[in-house]
Amino acid sequence: MESVADYFGCMVFDDRVMRATLSSDVYRSLKKTIDQGAQLDISVANAVATAMKDWAVSKGATHYTHWFQPLTGITAEKHDGFISPAPDGRVIMEFSGKELIKGEPDASSFPSGGLRATFEARGYTAWDPTSYAFIKGKTLCIPTAFCSYGGEALDKKTPLLRSMEALNRQAMRILRLFGNTSAKCVRTSVGPEQEYFLIDKDMYAKRKDLIYTGRTLFGAKPPKGQELDDHYFGAIKPRVEAYMADLDEELWKLGVLAKTKHNEVAPAQHELAPIYKTTNIATDHNQLTMEIMQKVAAKHNLVCLLHEKPFAGVNGSGKHNNWSLTTDKGGNLLTPGETPYENAQFLLFLCAVIKAVDDYQDLLRISVATAGNDHRLGANEAPPAVVSIFLGDELTAILDAIEKEAPYSGKKKSQMKLGVDVLPLFPKDTTDRNRTSPFAFTGNKFEFRMLGSSDSIACANIMLNSAVAESLRQYADVLEHASDFNDALHALIRDTVKKHKRIIFNGNGYDAAWIKEATENRGLLNYRTTPDCMPHLTDEKNVRMLKSHGVYSEAELKARCEINLENYLKTVTIEANTMIYMATREILPAVEKYTASVASSAAKKKALAPELACSYEHTLVSSLSGLTDRIAEACAKLSDTVAKLKYAYDVTAEAYAIRDTVIPAMNELRAVADEAETLTASEYWPFPTYGDLLFGVK
Ligand code: ADP
Ligand code: MG
Repeated sequence: MESVADYFGCMVFDDRVMRATLSSDVYRSLKKTIDQGAQLDISVANAVATAMKDWAVSKGATHYTHWFQPLTGITAEKHDGFISPAPDGRVIMEFSGKELIKGEPDASSFPSGGLRATFEARGYTAWDPTSYAFIKGKTLCIPTAFCSYGGEALDKKTPLLRSMEALNRQAMRILRLFGNTSAKCVRTSVGPEQEYFLIDKDMYAKRKDLIYTGRTLFGAKPPKGQELDDHYFGAIKPRVEAYMADLDEELWKLGVLAKTKHNEVAPAQHELAPIYKTTNIATDHNQLTMEIMQKVAAKHNLVCLLHEKPFAGVNGSGKHNNWSLTTDKGGNLLTPGETPYENAQFLLFLCAVIKAVDDYQDLLRISVATAGNDHRLGANEAPPAVVSIFLGDELTAILDAIEKEAPYSGKKKSQMKLGVDVLPLFPKDTTDRNRTSPFAFTGNKFEFRMLGSSDSIACANIMLNSAVAESLRQYADVLEHASDFNDALHALIRDTVKKHKRIIFNGNGYDAAWIKEATENRGLLNYRTTPDCMPHLTDEKNVRMLKSHGVYSEAELKARCEINLENYLKTVTIEANTMIYMATREILPAVEKYTASVASSAAKKKALAPELACSYEHTLVSSLSGLTDRIAEACAKLSDTVAKLKYAYDVTAEAYAIRDTVIPAMNELRAVADEAETLTASEYWPFPTYGDLLFGVK
């Protein structure tokens, strides 16, 4: 068998292939475009397109697609064949530079939040040469951005690239102030850890809730859940093992650096973590990973559930966004340095993140808000909906000493006057294993843990990059005009700590006492649900900041706010309708049938022996009848709340209505139906139970 090193990236038009297939002039121009964003000449584009096509055809590809990330959160593709008719009736395989650079999908059905009226249906896709093209199946996929003709971003990639550029601009100003003249750019790197559930496909096929909504809407608690903690890092079952091996191979062929895999806390829950990459590529790769996870599962007669909360009562799934800043020379700006001088720079970048997270708690919360993720954040599992930062004791003590201008009583006792000359060395904090913090410093990177498992990581990184760019901008504005750099630096760091230390919390984020402390004493935001936070996307302070860095226009933000709320409405409405369907057509008939069989068995017994009490049957029949009445009632009530929604009206008001009327009605229906499940004989229950689903894969 071929070794991994041999086939890794074999489906990617990467640097190796470019070098091998392009003339040195074309290669140099393309490289300049990739590294420095230089405009690409059409003759170069033509040469690249031909090389790409020849390479793809040699690998069996017949089609190409502009692969993009519309605001639906998944990727979109429209396949075009390479074929072109030749005069003699044959076809030749063709692909031009124009086709590579720009596409015009008929995109009227993608959400645009009013940015593009449907009569001007055409948006266009534009090649992103910084993310390599790859072959999926028989199609050459070209990563692209998706915009309207007016230039408004209709996707997630465009603002992500803009936010990376904004951060680069501001971070470079800071590096220059510290005398760094060699770095050419600063990039953000991201390693997203992806959680998922794996269940049997035959069982999945019997559950309308999983099919329509990706999560279970009914299901009584099984005798065993995650109580024993025996799944986390446990031995991987053979079927899952085979799946994971296959998945790794598929991802490796696509150049995705899938590295770590293990069982997670809940039964049937697993995790995959890649090695970190530049944010733009990490985002593309995460989208690809989610897609391949589902595809490979099907081959193993499994289904991969990416929903944030597929099962009530056991942990949901998230995505940990490990994030750091590096220069093109490879230096990580979030690594505490070897010298006091480097440490001063490190502390400034650290403070920039602290300030950013405090100033834009709302944007970070918004960036992870979906109907699915509402089941995790602010519900009974970590992390909470309140954004805070874990720094660890050591760094917190250092910042504390700087703020109070007091001696730092850590491992090295010395005055923390933060001139670069006198700042002491400090060891990296290695104590972090706080799993409850939404935003944790982990030695040389921050780990943002609020992301939902099914969501694109783009939005979270757009907000993070932009907010940090804004902190750095403010710092650079001060430092560039300072008469004494060291004094100004010291004051900036001290003032940041003073003003923003409320966001630092090293304790248990899961604790109810923390939520009280955070909201009542520290004034931190606690937006528990999507309708609570989403309207703040267009708050004046947020629009101003995002606009000033060229990340979003006001119209783009309004559109996103609208689309996200609409998405919330639609998601919950589909769930409600699915519940009504399952209750009416599956659960009620099943319980009714079982009740009838119990009643008829009692009647038969009585006919044979009239003296029998049949109290078991009587009690059961009366309980079940009581429950069917309540299910029918709850179902009617739910239908009623759904019918009262007035869609196009005002999305914010409707989102609140969904949250305050539809979701509670769904919960009521579920509670009675789950109770009925516990009283109904297994053979009568119309679909696989929690026990079947969670422990069904061997
Ligand atoms: P955990 O203990 O949280 O599982 P790991 O050390 O396994 O942490 O790393 C988790 C993720 O963080 C991986 O995707 C890894 O590549 C990524 N990572 C490591 N260093 C960095 C960094 N400097 N910047 C961004 N991501 C990083
Ligand atoms: Mg982690």
